Amino acid sequence: MLKLDFHPAGRHFLQIPGPSPVPDRILRAMSYPTIDHRGPEFGALGLQVLAGIKKIFKTEQPVVIYPASGTGAWEAALTNTLSPGDAVLMYETGHFATLWKKMAEALGLKPEFLGLPGIEGWRRGVQADLIEERLRKDSGHQIKAVCVVHNETSTGVTSDIAAVRRAIDAAGHPALLLVDTISGLASADYRHDEWGVDVTVSGSQKGLMLPPGISFNAVSKKAIEASKSARLPKAFWGWAEIIEMNATGYWPYTPNTNLLYGLNEALDMILSEGLENTFARHERLAQACRKAVTTWGLEIQCADPAVYSPVLTGVMTPEGFDADAIRKTIYENFDMSLGTGLGKMKGKMFRIGHLGEANDLTLMATLAGCEMGLKLAGVKLAGSGVQAAMEVLAAQKKKPDLKVA
Ligand SMILES: *Cc1c(COP(=O)(O)O)cnc(C)c1O
Repeated sequence: MLKLDFHPAGRHFLQIPGPSPVPDRILRAMSYPTIDHRGPEFGALGLQVLAGIKKIFKTEQPVVIYPASGTGAWEAALTNTLSPGDAVLMYETGHFATLWKKMAEALGLKPEFLGLPGIEGWRRGVQADLIEERLRKDSGHQIKAVCVVHNETSTGVTSDIAAVRRAIDAAGHPALLLVDTISGLASADYRHDEWGVDVTVSGSQKGLMLPPGISFNAVSKKAIEASKSARLPKAFWGWAEIIEMNATGYWPYTPNTNLLYGLNEALDMILSEGLENTFARHERLAQACRKAVTTWGLEIQCADPAVYSPVLTGVMTPEGFDADAIRKTIYENFDMSLGTGLGKMKGKMFRIGHLGEANDLTLMATLAGCEMGLKLAGVKLAGSGVQAAMEVLAAQKKKPDLKVA
C-alpha cells in the first residue's frame, strides 16, 4: 500500500483561496451512508438544498447543481445560452477570466477580450464604462453575451457587477450577462436577481466550505428563453431536463449524494450565521490581512481600494524575490499552503486565502506563518504585520468589565 505520511503534527493550514478548509461539521455530514438517489429520502434532501442554495445566490429563479468542478459550470453557462460563432464580450480581470475566454474559443464562440493594458487590468476591477462604450458601438447587436468574473481569485479583486448591469442597460443592449462568482459566493455580497444577472456560475470548494466536486448555474428567465434556441452542442450540461426533474428533488443522473449532505450542512451553517454577518466577518478579516501586508511594507496586488476582495489578498513580493520560493519556505517550515501567482503574476505574488471557515485566530496564525516565512526568505520587512493585524482585530472587540463589585 502507498504510504501517505504527509500528515505532520497539528492541522495543515490550507490558506489557498480554494479549496478552503472544510469544517468538521461538514466532513461528518458527508460521512452519512450514501442513499438511493431515486428513493424518498433523497427527494427531500434534493428539495432542501435546491431551496437553500437560492438564498445564497439571492434568487427566486432555478439554480442548477452539477456534479462537476466550477469549470464544468462555466461550460454549462456558455453552451446553454449561445450558438456557434456568437460574439461574446469578455473582460480581462486576471487568470480565471483568461481561462473562461479560452474555453469560449474552444467551444467555437468568438470572444472579444476587453481590459486595461499589461498587468494594469489584473490590478483593478471590471471597468464598466469600457463595456458600455463597446456595446454602444455594436448597433447591430452581434454581441450575444457579456462575461465577467465577480471575484477574480488570481488577483484578489472583486468587481462591481451592478455597474456592469447598468452599463449594459445604459447602452440599451440585449446581451445576456454571465458572471463567474465561483470564489465570491457566500463570502462576498452577491445578488443574482437584483443585479439582473442571467447566468451565475459558482462552485463548492471556496466560500461554501465544501470539498471540490459540485458547481452551480443560477439562471434567469431570459437565460432560459435563450437556451431554447441556443445551438452549441450540449447533453450532460443541458438545463431543461435537470430543471424539470429538480422540481421534485431529483436529478436525471446520479448526483453527488454525499456532497449534497455536505451542502445541506454548509447552508445550515451560513444561514444560521446570517449571510450579511458572513460577509461582515470576511470583510473584517480581509481588512486586518491588508493592514498586515502594508505594515510589512509590501504591495497589495489590487490597486483600487474600492474593489479589494474580502475572500483573498494578493501580496506582491519585492523585486529579486521569487514568490514561489517564499511559498515553498513557508510550506516546508510551517506546514501552510498559500496560493501561487497565476498567469502574468507567476513568481511575482502569493495569495492569502481568508474565506469560508476563517476566524480571527486562523487569520493570525496565517499571518504569523507569512511573516516568519518572509523573514526566513530574507525579505526586509518595514514592520510587524502580525502586530498591526492584531490591533485591527482587537479594536473591534468587547473589553471586560473590570469594576470590582
Ligand atoms: C476556482 C475558480 C475557477 C475554477 O473552478 P474549478 O472548480 O477549479 O473548475 C474558476 N473561476 C474562479 C473565479 C475560481 O476561483
